Amino acid sequence: MTNRLPGFNTLAIHAGAAPDATTGARATPIYQTTSFVFDDVDHAASLFGLQAFGNIYTRITNPTNAVLEERIAALEGGTAAVAVASGHAAEFLTMHALMQPGDQFVAANKLYGGSINQFNHSYKNFGWEVAWADTDDPASFEAAITPRTKAIFCESIANPGGVITDIAALSAIAKRHNVPLIVDNTMATPYLIRPFEHGADIVVHSATKFLGGHGNSIGGLIVDGGSFNWANDPRYPMLSQPRPEYSGMVLAETFGNFGFAIAVRVLGLRDLGPALSPFNAFLILNGIETLPLRMQRHSDNALKVAGFLAQHEAVSWVSYPGLPSDRYHQLAKRYTPNGAGAVFTFGLKGGYEAGVKLVSELQLFSHLANIGDTRSLVIHPASTTHRQLTDAQKSAAGAGPEVVRLSIGLEDPDDLIEDLDAALRG
Ligand SMILES: *Cc1c(COP(=O)(O)O)cnc(C)c1O
Repeated sequence: MTNRLPGFNTLAIHAGAAPDATTGARATPIYQTTSFVFDDVDHAASLFGLQAFGNIYTRITNPTNAVLEERIAALEGGTAAVAVASGHAAEFLTMHALMQPGDQFVAANKLYGGSINQFNHSYKNFGWEVAWADTDDPASFEAAITPRTKAIFCESIANPGGVITDIAALSAIAKRHNVPLIVDNTMATPYLIRPFEHGADIVVHSATKFLGGHGNSIGGLIVDGGSFNWANDPRYPMLSQPRPEYSGMVLAETFGNFGFAIAVRVLGLRDLGPALSPFNAFLILNGIETLPLRMQRHSDNALKVAGFLAQHEAVSWVSYPGLPSDRYHQLAKRYTPNGAGAVFTFGLKGGYEAGVKLVSELQLFSHLANIGDTRSLVIHPASTTHRQLTDAQKSAAGAGPEVVRLSIGLEDPDDLIEDLDAALRG
């Protein structure tokens, strides 16, 4: 063997995993246990004091979850990762490690709807303020920065689908103001985009979507890029100040370039508690083994379906960056040359009524509120996820009455096209 690093396909299958030391089991076992026996009293003391790495209790660490954490860290090119109960838990624990009451962060306005709610409403209870910036206008991020800004947050391929973020432009702004750039990489996955290569400092995932990939488990991941220097920075006391919980230890000094991941685990996960079930970690690991194959097929299928819709007489527009005519096509060529992902929106000439009719006529597509399944999924946001908004608010959120969102699965693309064609002709 040379000392060349393994490729992405190899890492997706092997990173973090080894045959089980006791039984030889080749698939990663599900360590379905709450707690782990200490060797002796000294061992227990060193685990609790963070002087040794090891397992105490599954709320904080678990061997099945640890394989998942190492694997996503390898695929993203980060220094360490933390597995948590959901994508929302990943976002929340990330902010918990960075923000104090009265602090603010700047977020891109094209985000998963649940993230918009979380930032606008729930975070107020902690005294954390969000300032919204325009995903398509990096200068608007810089304009929103104040002395209390602690982070910039965006998605790589952004909701509601078909938006590519200029991560490097946002990273340049983050670096100028010495705040970390957090990228939600759920829709792209590291197969399509590796945000650390474009200057991100922290990556978060809803593993519920393409990483798990089969629509069967909720999970989240936080990846530390190891690039941000927290040490001696009083703006980030969780990382840079002596922690009373650990006899005055300063996490950024003791743990260096994975101090952020440690803070998320030993302060956030330990105290707030959204631990990932080892069973879900096992299912997500299984999903990741085929991630490169699936993401390529998702993207190839989506390009075919988008191309079909773009020339359909019932369709007024298609927003898919893989199409050469798309406004994000140049950014897509730069950031996601292997394909533009599975999720996109299109508009129906027949408006709201046509949207409602389409979702009820489709046979192969499932009408539900999720993305990233092997199965193709459809939703009409105006009659479901966004129905409480006014028409003006709907349009601003990219969810106007005529908009339909698809998450293209792994079926034969001709079958998907036939299903759409039949439903559109109705
Ligand atoms: C689904 C999703 C989330 C939230 O993840 P959950 O696992 O549902 O909590 C966050 N960000 C994006 C981009 C998502 O698609």
